[in-house]
Amino acid sequence: MLNFLKRIWHDPVISSVIAAILIGFGSYFSPFWPLIKNFLIETITFLTKKTALPNWLIGFLLLLSFLLLATKLIAAVRLLTSAKSASDYRQYSQDEFFGIRWRWKYSYGSGQPVELCPFCVKCDIQIRPADKSSYYGRGTLFKCDNTSCDAAAIEINEYLFEIEDKVARHLQQKARAGNWRKK
Ligand SMILES: [Zn+2]
Repeated sequence: MLNFLKRIWHDPVISSVIAAILIGFGSYFSPFWPLIKNFLIETITFLTKKTALPNWLIGFLLLLSFLLLATKLIAAVRLLTSAKSASDYRQYSQDEFFGIRWRWKYSYGSGQPVELCPFCVKCDIQIRPADKSSYYGRGTLFKCDNTSCDAAAIEINEYLFEIEDKVARHLQQKARAGNWRKK
């Protein structure tokens, strides 16, 4: 941008056109120069003059402007802090529910928890849940397959998607209440 302006400035044709415009502008307004000068002088005189306004009115106007400014400031601070606390819950991305450690992410748009993943509470290895549903009922087995870990297997009598839905609702409740921060 600066280079562009420099080039224009040094270009003989363009710079003479600009000069012509400026001179034309100046001469066009030349009859008004005394008027403009007077206007400026009068404005400065007015601004520096003392007024006969009663003190209570000046005080009232000052108070009014102060209150307006204060309400605007408070609103701005509230907006900033609420935006901060609304995004704060995204730091909550791990907790234990039903004897299993869960980790998750948040959907960028909706803020809903996504990609819920179970982990062993003892050795922290990721668990591959096994579907144990049969004719007799629903079931999901969470068994740590780390051979050096003695964590007990957990079977829940629900489908995996039902468990994940329950975990999501539990974690959302904690996120809303802010309980997760105390951990
Ligand atoms: Zn384990």
